Amino acid sequence: MDKPKIALITGANRGLGLETARQLARMGHQVILTSRNESDGQLAVETLDSEGLQVDYQRLDVSEIASIESTKDHIAGKYGRLDILVNNAGIYLDRGSPALTVDEDMVKRTFDVNFYGPLRTCQAVFPLMQSGGYGRVVNVSSGMGALADMGGRMLGYKASKTALNARTRILAGEVKDDNIKVNAVSPGWVRTDMGGAGASRNLEDGASGIIWAATLPDDGPTGGFFRDGEAIDW
Ligand code: NAP
Repeated sequence: MDKPKIALITGANRGLGLETARQLARMGHQVILTSRNESDGQLAVETLDSEGLQVDYQRLDVSEIASIESTKDHIAGKYGRLDILVNNAGIYLDRGSPALTVDEDMVKRTFDVNFYGPLRTCQAVFPLMQSGGYGRVVNVSSGMGALADMGGRMLGYKASKTALNARTRILAGEVKDDNIKVNAVSPGWVRTDMGGAGASRNLEDGASGIIWAATLPDDGPTGGFFRDGEAIDW
């Protein structure tokens, strides 16, 4: 492997975020595992430690700019650069709700985490990528955000991921000359708290496409929407 990368992951105390932290740490990268709840995050750090994987920890709530700024300052002071950002934190509040009657506040809260969260995090940490001349940003999206496959219900969750996909393309275009790749990844339907026990994929398989996008070579794609490393319809 080239020199280890510095990787920041949001919502990494459980589910796909924790599995992404595990896989990146196993590859020898320096992971900064973050969570909105400190004790949950410390438990995740201990779990990885018991597997022989040491990671750095920061409390980061993507709804709280102060915690994002404090994480950025920590990374700047300790590492001087950031190479990988996995915008993984997400919520799915309007499960099953019809768009005609969905609570507006629920839609706003969903956008705050799923769309504005990655926006805030990217805006804060991008200078740490740009100054290093390297960056891999993975926006953990969903097939439910694809306009090609919308169907009814779950307006807040679906539209927040569609907006995240649009932001992926816009940002990728802005930084294409900085060796920073910005891609959206659908993990498929994965057995996590969000996906439920009946989901078709295990954590390892769900995270593999995220790892692929987080470790792309310099000639890899940017501004795309992928599952398992294959382009999918927007
Ligand atoms: P999960 O098990 O429910 O985990 C979600 C994570 O996001 C948790 O760590 C949660 O922290 C964190 N989070 C929520 N709000 C946050 C905030 N304001 N700030 C920081 N962290 C916050 O879900 P998952 O299945 O691993 O999902 C991870 C990502 O994959 C999400 O973006 C989701 O939309 C996407 N995805 C999942 C599936 C699936 O089938 N599982 C399918 C498509 C896309 P707490 O523990 O504090 O709540």
